[in-house]
Amino acid sequence: SASVGETDPELAKAIQDELGRQQGEIELIASENIVSQAVLEAQGSVLTNKYAEGYPGKRYYGGCQYVDVAETLAIERAKQLFGVGFANVQPNSGSQANQGVYQALIQPGDTILGMSLDAGGHLTHGAKPNQSGKWFNAIQYGLRKQDGRVDMDQVRQLAREHKPKMIVAGFSAYSRIMDWAEFRQIADEVGAILFVDMAHVAGLVAGGVYPSPFPHAHVATTTTHKTLRGPRGGLILTDDEAIAKKINSAIFPGIQGGPLMHVIAAKAVAFKEALSPEFKSYARQVVANAKVLAETLVKGGVDIVSGGTDNHLMLVDLRPKGLTGKATETALGRAHITCNKNAVPFDPEKPAITSGVRLGTPAGTTRGFAEAEFQHIGEMIIEVLDGLKTNGDDNNGAVEAEVRAKVKTLTDRFPIYG
Ligand code: PLP
Repeated sequence: SASVGETDPELAKAIQDELGRQQGEIELIASENIVSQAVLEAQGSVLTNKYAEGYPGKRYYGGCQYVDVAETLAIERAKQLFGVGFANVQPNSGSQANQGVYQALIQPGDTILGMSLDAGGHLTHGAKPNQSGKWFNAIQYGLRKQDGRVDMDQVRQLAREHKPKMIVAGFSAYSRIMDWAEFRQIADEVGAILFVDMAHVAGLVAGGVYPSPFPHAHVATTTTHKTLRGPRGGLILTDDEAIAKKINSAIFPGIQGGPLMHVIAAKAVAFKEALSPEFKSYARQVVANAKVLAETLVKGGVDIVSGGTDNHLMLVDLRPKGLTGKATETALGRAHITCNKNAVPFDPEKPAITSGVRLGTPAGTTRGFAEAEFQHIGEMIIEVLDGLKTNGDDNNGAVEAEVRAKVKTLTDRFPIYG
């Protein structure tokens, strides 16, 4: 049959343009990565045609013998990767994985304790506009002002005061190690379930360079598309059989219908890749690269929240340069360096402006950048920022063009999807 280029040139052009953008720009969005051809191929496969409500061996549709193989591979590999007894690979996204955990283990009106959005938590950890903030009595913890680290004294004090049914540990914008064991101690003290959302660091956990939430977490979720480098999707893990049963019912029929079998197949491929020795070196390199990037930026005169990074990401505080996150994101974008503006803790600017940007190394590391390249990237970022500071938003074109040319040289040296 005809290709999308033949049947739908408008759409094909958008895909082609996006490919060109990914090939020719430096991707520093901390939650993104560059999947393998094998992952792309599995996700683009005929498994998209198949209805398979239920779980392997217990489906509500006929003809599931082959998708059962795919889902079983994904489940077994996920269990092996994270060293746990149960995995549900069906959540369509990280948010739905989290929704599944809530649906399985707590009731509307129950109290949950999670990290606030502006401290680096995720929307689904109890933020006001999210279902988790509307349906539950969400209490939020944050960071210590003096050092930008999670305030465990505050977590303990809030837990004692509010007696949450569930404590949520995990983050979207925190560059340090979270003390899963201390979270568990606090949860045990108040009789709460400890739910770890390791979406950002799952690939680092799999690669052995970030502490595993197990055995501390009662249940953990992750997205499969960030440091784990798989297709967009979610995953739920536990070692507790009673919780496992409830999780399966919560995902189907609780909140989802037919699972995305093509995505589950791509998850299986990604988990196999993550089990390889090469993935361990990848994870190590991601962290080494982040340290170099952070050091280079500090030398260039900006601050890093909490003073540095132990994982794949960093929050850059731009206030020493008198710049906002919004202007910086836009200027770097013009130079073909992609990132997102991000509030820093206790940010004086509005959420649409911010005083920071969040940077991460997972995608760049996948394309082969090592320490030397990330030092170069850090220097290019500082060049754009200093230009922006001197020339203003409208007159920084020459500096941005110069950096854009250097970006082209660098990305040409490390091609993707060649
Ligand atoms: N949990 C955390 C910690 C995240 O950072 C994210 C993604 O940004 C999610 C959950 C949600 O994942 P998704 O965007 O797939 O719904």
